[in-house]
Amino acid sequence: MQPTGEAHLGNYLGALHRWVELQERFDCLWCIVDDHAITAGGDPRDLPKKVVDLAVSFLAVGLDPEKSILFVQSDVSEHTELAWLFNAVTPMGDLERMTQYKDKAQRFESVPVGILNYPVLQAADILLYRADAVPVGEDQRQHLELTREIARKWNAGYGDFFPEPEAIIGDEGRILGLDGNAKMSKSLGNTVDIMAEPDEVWARVRTAVTDPQRLRKSDPGRPELCNVHSLHRHFSSPDVVEDVAHQCRGALRGCVECKHILSDSIVTTFAPMRERAAELRAQPERIRDILDDGATRARVLARETMAVVRQRMGLDWRKGWKR
Ligand code: SF4
Repeated sequence: MQPTGEAHLGNYLGALHRWVELQERFDCLWCIVDDHAITAGGDPRDLPKKVVDLAVSFLAVGLDPEKSILFVQSDVSEHTELAWLFNAVTPMGDLERMTQYKDKAQRFESVPVGILNYPVLQAADILLYRADAVPVGEDQRQHLELTREIARKWNAGYGDFFPEPEAIIGDEGRILGLDGNAKMSKSLGNTVDIMAEPDEVWARVRTAVTDPQRLRKSDPGRPELCNVHSLHRHFSSPDVVEDVAHQCRGALRGCVECKHILSDSIVTTFAPMRERAAELRAQPERIRDILDDGATRARVLARETMAVVRQRMGLDWRKGWKR
């Protein structure tokens, strides 16, 4: 996950919530991808804080360093090394047809190569640990398919070694921004941090778009078409979800009241995580130790992979000249 500071609602619903379950069933690595983040520009002085804030979010939602490996990408330089080596087998055309590349490239007069090569580094992030599976959102499926293609091409050139990782797609459905935009993100300002105080949560939730046909409280609403109702399904109890739909269809409750109930449900869901985050922030050395330990464990795995990759690609000249 890219370090954009504290995790927000979309990160939680689309990823973190699921990751906490996955760590019970798999040997997982969770990586804060600061090498990726530099392609988005921004002030470098802000990046370290964003990394730590995201680490706090990881730990606060329940990612457990005893069960999985939590680390920062730039602490394991093998990621960028493997990405460079994968450049040797990645067709330019494959990168140019990536939907995300096409979208992002439009924002630049002169497109940085890092925007084009982003999926190659993603492939390295995954294959460095020879991962069998990756939890991804629908928007990352194309990049994962490219990862599989890179694994196939590398294996064809240098011998079978990398698995073709499968996608683990969640069942949470599409998570729209509070403004109804297709994507929930901080940069679009259409989400709310999971560590936000109750008044901040309400300030954001009150702006959420609703059923556009419901202009007055006396108009019957269509909860199945309302993003507020979708969010209720994630944060409110089944009884409340049903009641909200009933009151909406019957024009018995207004949208403001409905949003107040949602805001309270979000605050209640995140309350224990807010408490854990406050405890963690009071012990910055603990966060540093967890990330240091994670990087050490990740490096062991990364170095095993790179020893094979370097040897197969002829980059072990000290050993190789005697062969
Ligand atoms: Fe949406 Fe609730 Fe308003 Fe119905 S009452 S349109 S579910 S916000």
